[in-house]
Amino acid sequence: MMEFTYHMPTKVVFGKGAVRNAAAIFKETGSKAIIVTGRHSSKINGSLADVVSALDEAGVAHVLFDEVEENPGVKTVQKAAEMAREAYADFVIGIGGGSPMDFAKGVAVLIENSECTYMDLIEGPPLSAAPVIAVATTSGTGSEVTHYAIFTDYEEDTKKNYVHRIFPRYALCDPSYTQFLSSEVTVNTAVDALSHLVEGYMATAANPMSDMHARNGFEIFEKCKRALLEGEFSYEDRENLMLCSTIAGMVISQAGTSLPHGMGYPLTYFKGIAHGRANGLVMREYLEFCSDKSKLRGMLKLLGMSSLAELGEFLDKLLGLEKNVNAEDIARYSSDMIKNVAKLRNHPCPVSEEDIAGIYAKSLLR
Ligand code: NAP
Ligand code: FE
Repeated sequence: MMEFTYHMPTKVVFGKGAVRNAAAIFKETGSKAIIVTGRHSSKINGSLADVVSALDEAGVAHVLFDEVEENPGVKTVQKAAEMAREAYADFVIGIGGGSPMDFAKGVAVLIENSECTYMDLIEGPPLSAAPVIAVATTSGTGSEVTHYAIFTDYEEDTKKNYVHRIFPRYALCDPSYTQFLSSEVTVNTAVDALSHLVEGYMATAANPMSDMHARNGFEIFEKCKRALLEGEFSYEDRENLMLCSTIAGMVISQAGTSLPHGMGYPLTYFKGIAHGRANGLVMREYLEFCSDKSKLRGMLKLLGMSSLAELGEFLDKLLGLEKNVNAEDIARYSSDMIKNVAKLRNHPCPVSEEDIAGIYAKSLLR
């Protein structure tokens, strides 16, 4: 028996000029924007200038918060929300990779709920939010089309998915902004997108709609393999990587992520390993552990690979081996991961602490 709900309310505008021509979108969304972005990249790749010029054209005022850090912490979100409230901003534009786009969702919740505390932001209950417009400048997280936001919790030494379900109203995706992304960030973020496709496809919560997107995403990823290995990207490659990442975001907006994401968070928090690379490092052994081999074979075929070993070699070439994790680290991360009920539930068969430690060890103690 088949039962599922499909809900992806974000309007996606994709292609060159998606932001530059967005004056009408900004005008319809609100009267004053707070733009949230990182310290440097949006000033260099043209995205911030395009947002400001479209806002000016629309006659929509704005304030700028440009201190979003990578893997943002909740305290910085609170600082930006204070600025938004003082300026009477009524919508949020997040420009950047997953960090500023997630951050925008947190600010949007705090604009509407001034009494919201740190715990409310992380643990709920689910709250409403001001409208968010996401301008993606990396091709990886798919945050522009998901209701997720991940914040670093320095009290508990981990990263947490907040509970609110805030889809951006618009996702503005112009691949030109990614043209000067370093090869390293391009690879790490592309592997994040791949892990969204893979985990969403193998997840307990997968449904025919998310699988349809995932299969499409695998085919697009296949076209990007050579550029990723060579580290040189044409505009068409950049387009494909961004499309793949947005589609992968749609997959996890329905199906969620599971073990690699949960296992990757401590690698990022404690070892500073980039989010996508962290997921990619454990992906092969995670897939070895997955029991649905027929789905696995279908996925490999769409990726243009004949075996899981070939996928493993491809990931090794892209990501290199990680030598900075020891057995003691693995014991600690595994005992934390076994408490991550949501991620474990989204893996379709039972998982023990030893299973997790085994995946870590085979991936990281080579
Ligand atoms: P990011 O942390 O947003 O950015 C990484 C780096 O790339 C920053 O130094 C940034 O510089 C730079 N950068 C961004 N765009 C650039 C461009 N076009 N050209 C040159 N440099 C650029 O990286 P990310 O991998 O996209 O996002 C990771 C975050 O997203 C993590 O916190 C992760 O947990 C989260 N995430 C969220 C979801 C979701 O569904 N919401 C899914 C997966 C991951 P600046 O700081 O100067 O901008
Ligand atoms: Fe991710």
